[in-house]
Amino acid sequence: MILIVDDKPENIYSLKRLLESKKFEVDSALSGEEALKKVLKNNYALIILDVQMPDMDGFEVAETLAGFSKSKDIPIIFLSAVNTDKKFITQGYASGAIDYITKPVDPDILMLKVKTFYRLYEQTNALNEIQTALRAEIEIRKKVQAELKERVEQLYSTLESLPQVAFTSDPSGNIEFVNKQWFRYSVSTKTFPVTHPEDKNIDEEWTICMLTENPLELEVRLKELDSDVYHFHLLRIIPIKEKDKIVKWVGTFTDIEDQKQIEKKKDEFLSIASHELKTPLTSIKAYIQLLERSLKNNPNETANTYLDRAQLQLSKLNNLIADLLDISKIESGKLKLNKRPFHVENLISSVIDIIHHTHEHVDIVRKGEAVNLHICADEVRIEQVLINYLTNALKYSPENKQVIIETEINENQLKLTVTDFGIGIPSEKQKNIFDKFFRVEESSLRFQGLGIGLYICSEIIRQHQGSFGVISKPGEGSSFYFTIPI
Ligand code: ADP
Repeated sequence: MILIVDDKPENIYSLKRLLESKKFEVDSALSGEEALKKVLKNNYALIILDVQMPDMDGFEVAETLAGFSKSKDIPIIFLSAVNTDKKFITQGYASGAIDYITKPVDPDILMLKVKTFYRLYEQTNALNEIQTALRAEIEIRKKVQAELKERVEQLYSTLESLPQVAFTSDPSGNIEFVNKQWFRYSVSTKTFPVTHPEDKNIDEEWTICMLTENPLELEVRLKELDSDVYHFHLLRIIPIKEKDKIVKWVGTFTDIEDQKQIEKKKDEFLSIASHELKTPLTSIKAYIQLLERSLKNNPNETANTYLDRAQLQLSKLNNLIADLLDISKIESGKLKLNKRPFHVENLISSVIDIIHHTHEHVDIVRKGEAVNLHICADEVRIEQVLINYLTNALKYSPENKQVIIETEINENQLKLTVTDFGIGIPSEKQKNIFDKFFRVEESSLRFQGLGIGLYICSEIIRQHQGSFGVISKPGEGSSFYFTIPI
């Protein structure tokens, strides 16, 4: 809006009409005092100020306006009929005017000037707004930085209080902070502690994780600077993200040597126990066979029933010991595969027969096209996986004894899925289901087992360069699958 200040209403009237005809908004004041009041109350883009006014003249008004922060940047055009000589013009400029026009006013010139100053004022205003916004932004950033610094310091003091070796790095993996435990293993804050020569390289493994933005979990052996003995440590490095962008990595090395030793002892015990159990079991099997033969000559119904039961229990014991032996073979890397070509559909049919033999009233549905092809794999081990999936499917479906075997062939891979409609597995437990000795607590009391069947299956499939997994919904059922390359 433009403010016209003149003590003569007729001057205001003609100027107002001129400006309004060019679509400017116009306000007016009949004295310097009124002008000052209006300027403090409203926002003007330009003031056209008459020099000759009673009480407060134009120069005084301009000087006063220059003193207010609100009005100091408003451009002023002086209008004067009288003070045309140089001295007055100079005074006009000195008191804050941007231009000086003498009467009679040439409307075209006045309009040109008004337009120019108006634009100038708008641009100054816009610049001021940008400046204010920038200042606010700087303030916000300063505050955020201070908060961030505080948070980082809190993180560092937490890491310092840990009994583990702990460190942080920038997003590209340059170490920024290490706690005091670090110096038991390394002299430099820039490089990782030395690991056992046979262990995986930390930098290489971490680089892979950085590319995929995934946490790293790695077992490595470290030795303290003044020792020659290596201890197993679990290295965990997790990314810290802000707005989906990694801002930091936080890592710890936890000493897991005791755990490892206990695990080793347990594996040794399992290995010895299962080997020792196998010998008497073989003898019992032989005696039972002898007993069976002798009963054929002297039939006795009761004795035959007991013999059948004994054989059933014996085969359960046999499976258990076989599983335990498999575990110790896996642990010592001795689970060897005997790969030969075999016919897939024949294997599936034979497994279905075996299951029907032990589980008479089950409904095994074969879905998908018959796989009439030979694959090169360890037939006995693949059969073991399929039997395991199927017996689990039946075991964990007390109400519904229907099971589906489905096959698919995709990109040189055979996928076999066993689906049941049983108790299902809670989603948070599914990721651990193939771990050694893992059993779902909720069902472990109702169903007997050791939690090693799926672990053995996973190792067998892994050795065939295949994949495995489960899709399940509690109360609805589970689909266990594995794939192997054709
Ligand atoms: P086990 O059956 O001897 O406990 P497994 O390794 O075969 O051992 O299975 C591990 C666990 O996975 C089981 O204890 C059970 O909790 C769960 N599980 C396996 N198969 C199924 C299934 N088909 N439905 C529901 N839970 C299952």
